[in-house]
Amino acid sequence: MVIADHKVVSLHYTLKNNDGEILDASAADDPLSYIHGTGSIIPGLEKQLAGKSAGNEFNVSVGPADAYGERSETLVQQIPRSAFKDVDEIEEGMQFQARSASGETLITVTGVEGDQVTVDGNHPLAGETLNFDVKVESVRDATAEELEHGHVHSDGND
Ligand code: ZN
Repeated sequence: MVIADHKVVSLHYTLKNNDGEILDASAADDPLSYIHGTGSIIPGLEKQLAGKSAGNEFNVSVGPADAYGERSETLVQQIPRSAFKDVDEIEEGMQFQARSASGETLITVTGVEGDQVTVDGNHPLAGETLNFDVKVESVRDATAEELEHGHVHSDGND
């Protein structure tokens, strides 16, 4: 069975940046499963998976435009420390969920100077070229219920 829209795909992957650092990987006993054609994984990877089948292994390099987008410097802002009322200590590297016009976004504290906190609303992988090593484990038809819910059902997860 080849990968096409509305197939449930399970795969193992290792994700590296252009310096060869491993950014993410599937756990050995827990492949990533998703419904193809629903936009649930990054577009550049989904595109390359179409037409592959179980057992296929390949490498794909995905530029920012087909991954998490280019960095936007307008998403880097300085805000007063007093905006973080509920947080005792603000430190570089802290991450917060914030509500914005486009939904929930993750913001990262990238600097603290006196009463000014610099936050970055870019996705942590924005601007990065993502290099995936992929192995397709299995491909099957999605059930009607999975398509209705928009996610994969497995191991009692429904
Ligand atoms: Zn469900």
